[in-house]
Amino acid sequence: MKAVTVPFFISHQGCPHTCIFCDQRTVSGAPGSLPGNAEIVAKIAAWRLSAGGTPLEAAFFGGTFSALPIEVREQLLAPLQPLLASGEITSVRISTRPDHIDADTVEWLAERGVRTIELGVQSMDDAVLDSAGRGHDAASSEAAIRCVKAHGLSVGAQLMSGLPGDTPSKALRSLERVIAAGADFVRIYPVVVLAGTELARRFAAGEYCPPGIEQGVRLCKVLLHAAMQGGVPVVRIGLQADRGLNADSVLAGCLHPAFGQLVRSELYFDMLCRLTSGRAGAAPLSIRCHPSRISDCIGQGRVNLERLRQQGVSASVRPDASLLREEVVVDLFGRCIKGNVISDLYFNINEV
Ligand code: SF4
Repeated sequence: MKAVTVPFFISHQGCPHTCIFCDQRTVSGAPGSLPGNAEIVAKIAAWRLSAGGTPLEAAFFGGTFSALPIEVREQLLAPLQPLLASGEITSVRISTRPDHIDADTVEWLAERGVRTIELGVQSMDDAVLDSAGRGHDAASSEAAIRCVKAHGLSVGAQLMSGLPGDTPSKALRSLERVIAAGADFVRIYPVVVLAGTELARRFAAGEYCPPGIEQGVRLCKVLLHAAMQGGVPVVRIGLQADRGLNADSVLAGCLHPAFGQLVRSELYFDMLCRLTSGRAGAAPLSIRCHPSRISDCIGQGRVNLERLRQQGVSASVRPDASLLREEVVVDLFGRCIKGNVISDLYFNINEV
């Protein structure tokens, strides 16, 4: 059973850098505060009540956990030890920078219940990393992924597409490299330009312009498809729009409350187009997909069905639990035409 994550945000704590896109200092005005022992225990107790019998995982996001002084790390993980021993939580997750991961650190974390490490990789192109002020190179990300894997922990890679100097092909190559290195899952964050950052200064000076939502959707669709082909889950696409991000703080880029859904429904729309090609003017078509993919097939506000209608194809979508999540079927005059989003779609990254 998938664990419910109890998040603790330790904004910018432990971070020795200021990446050009990062707003942590701007938003908080100072390094964020750390949760105290009692706060950690109380929050987990509250979440346990609402989670019912679902296992819980404690997670420290938003800082560079493994760069914190060791006594601070001890202080954060200490209240979790009795909860791990009693089974009240089953695991701990942290996020950190790739250049603050080595074998000793991973062993130390694993001994204290950490089972998942998320790495802020952003790009696997050294020129893009350098321009973004990351302070580490692609080789250190590769080494960190391999190191976490070698110790039997789960490792996630956070990628940011659209940074200065990035291109769709570099973004795809970055994804392919983290998958090849062994990433168990990825998060894809197209760039959002936040007020007060160096990126905002470059944007205002006309030195940089991030991809907009349409272009971001096209790129992320190809990245999602490549991850699906690689068998690696994409657990998040796009920044969560509820974390202090608003018209004042966001100057440009891909911020949409349901960006990930836009991307997934675009991918399924391509499948629908392929399956219904040449059917314009035919009787209304019945389309089936896995129940979890209904909204991806229909699209937000039924946009996919409306786009098909504009192509002369009238269709309705219904769930079919016997299908795989990536399968779509069109029932046509007693015949079934089946498509598979993973194996039957092809994209040229140079056309994004
Ligand atoms: S390493 Fe992370 S927390 Fe630190 S400045 Fe960069 S993005 Fe922000």
